[in-house]
Amino acid sequence: MHSTASDGADPPQRLPQLAVDAGLTAIALTDHDTAAGVRACAEAAAALGLDFLAGIELSADPSPLQPHLDAPRGTLHLLGYGIDPDAPHLLEIQQQLLRARADRNPEMIARLNDLGVNIAYDEVLAVAGGQVVGRPHIAQVMVRKGYVKSIHEAFARYIGQGAAAYTRRDQLSPADAIAAIHDAGGLAVLAHPTQLELPDHDAVEHAAAQLKALGLDGIETRHPDHAPSDTARFEAIADRLSLLATGGSDYHGSSKPITLGATKTPRAAFDRLRNALT
Ligand code: AMP
Ligand code: ZN
Repeated sequence: MHSTASDGADPPQRLPQLAVDAGLTAIALTDHDTAAGVRACAEAAAALGLDFLAGIELSADPSPLQPHLDAPRGTLHLLGYGIDPDAPHLLEIQQQLLRARADRNPEMIARLNDLGVNIAYDEVLAVAGGQVVGRPHIAQVMVRKGYVKSIHEAFARYIGQGAAAYTRRDQLSPADAIAAIHDAGGLAVLAHPTQLELPDHDAVEHAAAQLKALGLDGIETRHPDHAPSDTARFEAIADRLSLLATGGSDYHGSSKPITLGATKTPRAAFDRLRNALT
């Protein structure tokens, strides 16, 4: 789940109640590039008797997995499950990623301004609320000011990969991301592999094997982006590579059209993940 600490719409302390209402027995908070919401979420989960894993979702540079491409493509997100949110090295990485966003966001806004979309960085900061400012916040301001009709249109026309105002800022290597997660006592999981935009499942297996050589522990097989056939293929990959299979709804609240609990992950997957931590 994501909270207002990154680009989710619900505050971290509110998520456990929503999860209980949706019939879930366990959740993990994995905000983009920050563990700032973990403590509040953990406390609320404990008060409700809901099982909880502290997490983070680090944005990493996909290019080491794409030696055949001239420019990086797709999204490489590495989930860290069971991390200590106060681990010093991971805190340093979070600061580094925040700085990268602080460089990139004004650049994207300048490009939007050049394209006639007159939004200001301050307006985006106000929408973001938390420390991690991302493209969904920029998109929300664009919708509010009437430049686009939907978040989807904002990404498609302006800020999605390949669109006119898109600016890449992935600096963290996959090796460093995995090492930082391990250093914080967590397990590293390849998030939503389809977003790597690789040509086929064999290429996903190759990428997962490369990441496994760097210490990867698992692969997210269940995700709202995955067709049932994707999930089946990814579970087979997890089996062959001896990786944990994990899943989640990637819930972002009203920031995204995802229903909490709609992506069903068996309780056993959570238990295997938690047991692997001990
Ligand atoms: P950022 O971290 O600033 O690069 O933004 C990443 C966030 O934007 C993640 O929550 C993505 O799921 C979301 N995102 C990426 N592409 C799209 C899209 N086409 N439509 C809606 N959200 C998107
Ligand atoms: Zn992600």
